[in-house]
Formats: sequence, structure tokens, C-alpha cells
Amino acid sequence: MNVLIVEDYKELAKEIIDFLSKNGYLCKWVSNCKDALEEMGVNTYDAMLLDLGLPDGDGFQVLKSVRKQQCKTAVIVITARGELDDKINGLELGADDYLTKPFALTELAARLYAVIRRMNGFVTNEIEVHGFKIQLQDYKITFDETPLSLTKKEFDIFQYLVLNKNRVITRLQLTEHVWGDILELNSDSNFVDVHVRNLRKKLEKFTKIDWFETVRNVGYRINI
Ligand code: CA
Repeated sequence: MNVLIVEDYKELAKEIIDFLSKNGYLCKWVSNCKDALEEMGVNTYDAMLLDLGLPDGDGFQVLKSVRKQQCKTAVIVITARGELDDKINGLELGADDYLTKPFALTELAARLYAVIRRMNGFVTNEIEVHGFKIQLQDYKITFDETPLSLTKKEFDIFQYLVLNKNRVITRLQLTEHVWGDILELNSDSNFVDVHVRNLRKKLEKFTKIDWFETVRNVGYRINI
């Protein structure tokens, strides 16, 4: 999962990034409205943490513009302002959740997970897919109580495809969501396919996986 952090208070941003990185998120940090909008135009994020008081404007501007573009990114507004009006305004503009500073990082992580999950139409952190039970937050997959030993990347790929069930996910999208900034990676490389192949092999040990489709020259789709 990749998260854009829009926060001008460097120490807080650093704290959030350290914590979320340890919890398996890919984080990108920007400190003003202009860079946030630019970043949203270039990359696709699963979630955005949005501060309201930014040096070049109000975070609500960013929220408004992102929602106008019908962008699916889950947005959590984080702010020192705790006033009811701000909360209502944020939710009306399409924020998915609201956190008032100071907050516990564990609460942020839990809320972040919940908004991403809800955004993709799941109600709990445990998802069953053709006999496999995925515990999203704990990086665990079992089949008939038997745990699968997947690498972190294999888990991330599986999780991302499952969260986007019934949609074709391109190699580029997978790369972006599982490895981070695509510009830093060699786009010619077939490393995504290698990881997917390994994941397939591991799943096939348990059951037939004809629901895990390879869409030729495009990407992959998990049909549920
Ligand atoms: Ca601020």
C-alpha cells in the first residue's frame, strides 16, 4: 500500500513515515498543496494523510481537487484543529476519516487500514478467497488452517490483487503499489512477473487457481 503524506511539520511527518514504513507501507512525503497536487497527478496512491494548515494554502483545496478528479484514494484529514465545523467540512468534501492532533500512531495505522479496506468494498480485515484466508493486517494467509510462507512482496501482490478483485491490474500498477516510485525502477525488467510466478506456485500447492488470471501483455486479475 502506498501513502502520500501531506504535512508541513517535518518532525511529525518523519515520525509517521518511520512508523508506517515499519508497518509495510510505502510512504511519500510532501509539505505543501502544490506538491501534493503534483504528486497526485503523477502517481496513484492508496491513501493520503492530509494536514489542513499548509504553507501555501488550506488542505481542503487539495481534497476538493482530488475528489473532483474522481480519484479513488482514501483520504484521512489530520489536523490540529479539532472544531466540529472543520470535521463536517472535511467529510462533506469527501474525506474518509478525520484525526485530531496529537494522535497515537497505532490509531492512525488502524484507521488507515480501515479506510483502504472500505474503499475496496471489504468490511473486515479477514478476507476469504477461494479457500485462502487472508489476514490483511497481520500479513498472514492460511489454507485450511495451514499457513502459507509467502515473502513480503508476494503477500503485497496477492493483497493488492484481492483488494482490487475482478479488475485487471497492470504490471505498472502492481509495480507502483508494491515497490513504490516507478520512476526509480527499471520499467523493462520482468521482476513483477517473476514474483507473481513464485506466488502462483505457492498457491497452486494447495488448490487449483484458475481464478488467478494472467491477462496477456497487460497484467493480472483475481476473480472472486
Ligand atoms: Ca500544518
